[in-house]
Amino acid sequence: MTSQSSPVEAADPFAAPFGTLFGDKITIARMEAGDDYRYSGSAEPMENFSLHPATHALHYGSTCFEGLKAFRQDDGSLAIFRLDEHVRRLAKTVAQLYMSVPDVELVKTMIIDAAEANASHTPDAPGSLYLRPTLLGMQVNIGAAATPSNSALFYVFASPVGDYFAGGVRPLTIYVETNTPRTTPQFGRAKAGANYAMALGPTLDAKATHGSDQVLFASGGDVTETGAANFFLVDNDRVITRELDDSFLHGVTRSSVLALAADLGYEVEERRISLDELREWATRGEAFLSGTAAIIAPVGTLKLEGDTVLVGDGKPGPNTLRLREALTDIQVGAAVDSHRWLTPIAG
Ligand SMILES: *Cc1c(COP(=O)(O)O)cnc(C)c1O
Repeated sequence: MTSQSSPVEAADPFAAPFGTLFGDKITIARMEAGDDYRYSGSAEPMENFSLHPATHALHYGSTCFEGLKAFRQDDGSLAIFRLDEHVRRLAKTVAQLYMSVPDVELVKTMIIDAAEANASHTPDAPGSLYLRPTLLGMQVNIGAAATPSNSALFYVFASPVGDYFAGGVRPLTIYVETNTPRTTPQFGRAKAGANYAMALGPTLDAKATHGSDQVLFASGGDVTETGAANFFLVDNDRVITRELDDSFLHGVTRSSVLALAADLGYEVEERRISLDELREWATRGEAFLSGTAAIIAPVGTLKLEGDTVLVGDGKPGPNTLRLREALTDIQVGAAVDSHRWLTPIAG
């Protein structure tokens, strides 16, 4: 058994499954005994870590992450999409784990350094260099179950990724789960692996029982998000998504879509969505998921309260594709970045 991936130079990100190919450089900072995070100031070779078996993160979930992308621009340069927003969200998640929050400027520097060190592995659009900042509680103490880890490792590595929809944009089948919540009410906003572990069972069960790709969590009839993406309704006039609260992840793609929708003249509504509205909307509107990995993914079918409900004609709708293009055009520098979402980097 090996935990090493294939050499990145030899591999084709458009052929490899998303997230299986890695850049060969990583930036690392360490925090000991509540002191500041210390970063050497440059990227290191990406190598396996050695962890004590009693490491806090392995037992008590003191770990979280971010996911953002650097895009090759039309002029050949590189830029990171919405760096500030991702850094802000990381700080919120770390604080929610009651761990020591790394300095915002340090996190930005380490993300940029990791992106620049791996820049040569960035595929052309629609591919990108996916960046994965990760934080681990490193305290060696299995008695520390009820205390936050007093030491941590923060690192950023890169994964060259191709087109999420290599075989074309395939509309998703979504099972609407009205009983089991995705996570706990107080942890919905945290970008932590624990939330994924909780969503896994319902997602696999729904796949086996209903043939769905994803689960839309709507406990008590309150439509929130899927296991890893935010949920939208759109028609020719309006864009609707759930209003922000602590119950779900506040996607950066979500906020980008809302801003672009307003730019394009859609009426933007952030509010609760009921199951009845979902059913009614499907007869004439469109629905999609949003997230950094897939950007915008059309929903073709809903498995809702025992019924199979086609969304529109079951194919990706024109408004969904329009929003998707508006967003990807900004990401690759093909449209004016009027919101200043891009951070240019070297490489
Ligand atoms: C990361 C994530 C999203 C999408 O957020 P983006 O910032 O748009 O990538 C949505 N839901 C969950 C649970 C997530 O972890």
